[in-house]
Amino acid sequence: MIKKLKYVFALKCPKCREGELFVIRNPYLLKKLNVMHKNCNVCGLKYSREPGFFFGAAYVSYALQVLLAIATYFSLSLLSKLSVNWIFVLTALVMILATPYITVLSRSFWIFFFVSYDPNNRRVK
Ligand SMILES: [Zn+2]
Repeated sequence: MIKKLKYVFALKCPKCREGELFVIRNPYLLKKLNVMHKNCNVCGLKYSREPGFFFGAAYVSYALQVLLAIATYFSLSLLSKLSVNWIFVLTALVMILATPYITVLSRSFWIFFFVSYDPNNRRVK
């Protein structure tokens, strides 16, 4: 499970764990945010399994944002002596700054839910 998460966070293909999911690895280049390869360049897996496949990633994105907000809020509450207003401001700032990465990460989580690792299914180059 932990090993699988490593590849989710690295935005790798869920089937071979080598190919890149996204055309540009840096999600903070916002013009290319969410631009994915159609197929894995290592194993040939088609990433968008059906039209609208990645709509479900919005639920994952929402859950990740809520978890991040809760973690940030309670971390700042416990570890700092800031006022509640400053904690809210900083929590909102962290959420805004994390949004591009969470957007691509949620797609990675979503496809990892549906595709299993298969190290033997590699396309011959
Ligand atoms: Zn692959």
